[in-house]
Amino acid sequence: MHNDIDPPVEVPDQFHSEKVAIIGAGPAGLSCAYFLAKAGYNSVVFEAMPEPAGMFRYGIPEYRLPTETLMHEINWILAHGAELRCNTRIGKDISFEELQRDYAAVFIGVGAWTGMTLRIPGEDMEGVIDGVRFLRDANMGKKIEMEGRVIIIGGGNVAMDAARVSWREGFDEVHVVYRRTRKEMPASPWEIDAAEHEGIKFQFLVAPVEVIGDKDRMTGLKCLKMELGEPDASGRRRPVPIEGSEFVIEAENLIAAIGQRPDIKFVPEDSKLEITRWNTFAVDQQTFETNVPGIFSAGDVETGPDIAIRACANGRKAALGIARYIEAKRREAA
Ligand SMILES: Cc1cc2nc3c(=O)[nH]c(=O)nc-3n(C[C@H](O)[C@H](O)[C@H](O)COP(=O)(O)OP(=O)(O)OC[C@H]3O[C@@H](n4cnc5c(N)ncnc54)[C@H](O)[C@@H]3O)c2cc1C
Repeated sequence: MHNDIDPPVEVPDQFHSEKVAIIGAGPAGLSCAYFLAKAGYNSVVFEAMPEPAGMFRYGIPEYRLPTETLMHEINWILAHGAELRCNTRIGKDISFEELQRDYAAVFIGVGAWTGMTLRIPGEDMEGVIDGVRFLRDANMGKKIEMEGRVIIIGGGNVAMDAARVSWREGFDEVHVVYRRTRKEMPASPWEIDAAEHEGIKFQFLVAPVEVIGDKDRMTGLKCLKMELGEPDASGRRRPVPIEGSEFVIEAENLIAAIGQRPDIKFVPEDSKLEITRWNTFAVDQQTFETNVPGIFSAGDVETGPDIAIRACANGRKAALGIARYIEAKRREAA
């Protein structure tokens, strides 16, 4: 890229007539488009946001993954035979049924964009926002209308990004509150080290209890100290509250970064698609086909919030599954 040398675009001489609709231009959708093109299938990638790349563009901050590098790679992927239609939300601008009718197969790769709520009193107060929304606004260059001190709740990569972006946005103090210890934090260790190095304060073994405020405006967070008990289903030791250990961290803002869920409202109720209790699609783990023939899904909307390489790998497996599905249909029709 820095030497202005583009890798070659290697695709079959002839493409098949069938086209595939891809919902979502994140790592899963774009990987699916790329491997479909390698198998000789054109696709149209429908993307709700103004630009492609999903959480690579609207979640992970620019200082970790520069947009210029991303766009260079995406343009190369698209050059293989995928058409990108941004600002097109399925379920609003085009219906899901239309895609089912007009395309040989549909791939769903819409990620997990709905931030989970803390489910504590006061979290609807002014000053409280969810991590993915905060990062999206920051990545879109929107003015962050928050100032003073901020508390980030969570111990994953989204929490670390929210903390480090908050620091860059110029908050007076940035606190990370996590209910287990540093050892149990799911975030990459180098992200935790970098956040600490930048001056972000960590409070381990602390859980939020209530957002407190003056009228509707947050002024602090009531917390409880925790200790580690027996291992839970995840194998990690369960945090147990220490009775009478309440204390308050004063802050004007709170960012909840405790997880995300997919938003799949665009799928019609009568679609018959099997949906798990985590709001993800159930798929065959070889082909990534859902229980409805011709509809495939991979990425965070299938696994729940995960890592990018799994979205890419499963997007590839889905592309191979789609190619096999279309070939079988073609044989049936012959
Ligand atoms: C803040 C943050 C930091 C992360 N850091 C890391 C990291 O360091 N390393 C790592 O490996 N992973 C990281 N991840 C996880 C990684 O980004 C995701 O696992 C990956 O992006 C999932 O890819 P995806 O294609 O499934 O979904 P997404 O990347 O979420 O893309 C889904 C796309 O679908 C679009 N879409 C949604 N609904 C519709 C609709 N109705 N119509 C049309 N388009 C729609 C969205 O706009 C989006 O572009 C991070 C995630 C976040 C949020």
